[in-house]
Amino acid sequence: MTPDTTLTGIRGCVIDAPEYGKLRTWRDGAVVLEGAKILEVGDYQHVGKKPRTQPIRWLHNEGAAIFPGLIDLHAHVPQYPVVARGRGQLLDWLHHCIFPREKAFTGPAGQREAAAFFPELARHGTTTAMLYAAIYEDSCDAAFHAAAKSGLRIIMGKMMMDVGTYGAVQPRKVLSVSMLESERLCRHWHGHNEGLIEYAFSPRFALACSERLMRESAAMAAQFGCYIQTHLAETREECERVRHLFPTSKDYTEVYEKCGLVGAKTIFGHCIHLSDRERIALAAMGAGVAHCPTANLYLGSGIMPLAEHRAAGMKIGLGSDVAAGPELNLWQVMRSAIESQKVRGYYEQKIPIPSPAQVLYLATRGAAEALGKETQLGTLDPGKDADLTIMNIAAMLPYGGSATKADELTAEDILALCVYRGGPHAVSETFVRGRSLYRSSAPELF
Ligand SMILES: [Zn+2]
Repeated sequence: MTPDTTLTGIRGCVIDAPEYGKLRTWRDGAVVLEGAKILEVGDYQHVGKKPRTQPIRWLHNEGAAIFPGLIDLHAHVPQYPVVARGRGQLLDWLHHCIFPREKAFTGPAGQREAAAFFPELARHGTTTAMLYAAIYEDSCDAAFHAAAKSGLRIIMGKMMMDVGTYGAVQPRKVLSVSMLESERLCRHWHGHNEGLIEYAFSPRFALACSERLMRESAAMAAQFGCYIQTHLAETREECERVRHLFPTSKDYTEVYEKCGLVGAKTIFGHCIHLSDRERIALAAMGAGVAHCPTANLYLGSGIMPLAEHRAAGMKIGLGSDVAAGPELNLWQVMRSAIESQKVRGYYEQKIPIPSPAQVLYLATRGAAEALGKETQLGTLDPGKDADLTIMNIAAMLPYGGSATKADELTAEDILALCVYRGGPHAVSETFVRGRSLYRSSAPELF
């Protein structure tokens, strides 16, 4: 078979964020893909007119904006249908709204629903996601099948909890069953689809897991070289209960450190209520943080001290945390990351407010770094995997753009439009490794 030598060129306003707060833009730009990789990025006039031996198939136009694929570091597959439902803070909400939902996520209905989730991610412009399934092997396996079929980059694991699981009477040997099922899923799926699919051991949090389960999960994750994900310091009430449950640990983070759960392949959801010692420990171990501001506002959990965490050297990306977060839409998570720090600035002195460029960094390059994939993902540098999110500028403008002149808008204006008005209605196309996984039929008229 002769290889396809045709290149793919994508024209539009090219925007990425190689450093925190530093944008790189080409207002009339182009990204050229060769198979699964980015070959070239630059001005359309330069890139488009360059003499080449290989033909280019051009897609999109000046009405599009081209970003590195958006990365969601934290969401729960079984919870999606109950977004915006339930009241109260985390622990009440889990028991009254989420556990009954997750408990039903098994059998044919659970398996069908698991399969429906992945096209939704692509429709929202998300190219990489780190996900929790429910405690069941069957629906997690179905979710992996669907993830592989979708072509997305997915890191996922079966939820593990052996302390009062879903509030039910404790099934006997729940720990050994949970370990066995997780190991089976990991052996089958980790590295699948040429590495696009990876496994994450997923103990829910210290209040739902025995120390033995956490220790064995950490050991198994190390054995297979896969990820770990859990929740850390989301609410004050949770932190208080952890203090009572683990009186010999000096803080919440140390509970996980003692079990071996803190490392460069661990992503901790939330991390709102941390001490200086915990920040330093997490940064020193190279652990990643999924900052989930929409979820934190929904459940009233608190506002993550973003500037303090970054100053300590912690690796931070963003998470939708569906269903505590009401949307898979990462643009709204970026907006919320800005606005929540603005709110904090009303009652605390000298709180730096992140810019659109900074939150774009968190959703792309920052998240890639948290995953240890910054050489492969997160910016539009040649040689990186061609994971791209293409946005339709007119779909975000008032009156479909008819009242705005194209040359009024700078690349910074276009990024701000995406952050404040972006969403699935404006996603034009989603690529992972150069393969189109979602394409809107809406024309880019602007
Ligand atoms: Zn979560």
